[in-house]
Amino acid sequence: MLSIVPKDIGWIEVICGSMFSGKTEELIRRLRRAQIAKQNVAIFKPVIDDRYSSEHIVSHNECRLPSIAVMSAQEILAKRGEATVIGIDEAQFFGMDLVDVCQKLADMGLRVIVAGLDQDYTGKPFEPIPQLLAVAEYITKTLAICVKCGNPANRTQRLSHDSARVVVGAQNIYEARCRFCHEVYTEEKDSKAQE
Ligand code: ZN
Repeated sequence: MLSIVPKDIGWIEVICGSMFSGKTEELIRRLRRAQIAKQNVAIFKPVIDDRYSSEHIVSHNECRLPSIAVMSAQEILAKRGEATVIGIDEAQFFGMDLVDVCQKLADMGLRVIVAGLDQDYTGKPFEPIPQLLAVAEYITKTLAICVKCGNPANRTQRLSHDSARVVVGAQNIYEARCRFCHEVYTEEKDSKAQE
């Protein structure tokens, strides 16, 4: 059978988009296909993401696969075992070290599939996804549907006024919005709203 991608060569696939766009679902779908083909798969997620399950990656529609929780991107290198396919979820929590780690894994001949948020709640590019997009062979951008207007949505709206870049374990304070409906609350804007 003719393969589109030559064998014995590694590569990086990035699946990115806003929250509720189906990134983890798509990651799970690809990893399941590899498992069905009896390929050796290892799945990693950052310890910071403990929603739903600490030993699985779980999409919002409750699909799940067993995963290894790690504190840093470097740990992925140490804990990959014999795997030839590496899945990484919630990539935005690993920081810039993840870029080097993914490059190393792909250079070793492994297939690396990374899913993560490409923008923070203010709509700014969220490292390390922009850098990973630059070095990846394959890119998939998933879109959600804007909760306000029903148009394609690529932004994550934070419904609370918390200004930390990451607010963990607060799934119900986010929703998908399009660029038109997305709003960033600033203190200035808040004080105006109160006037
Ligand atoms: Zn909208």
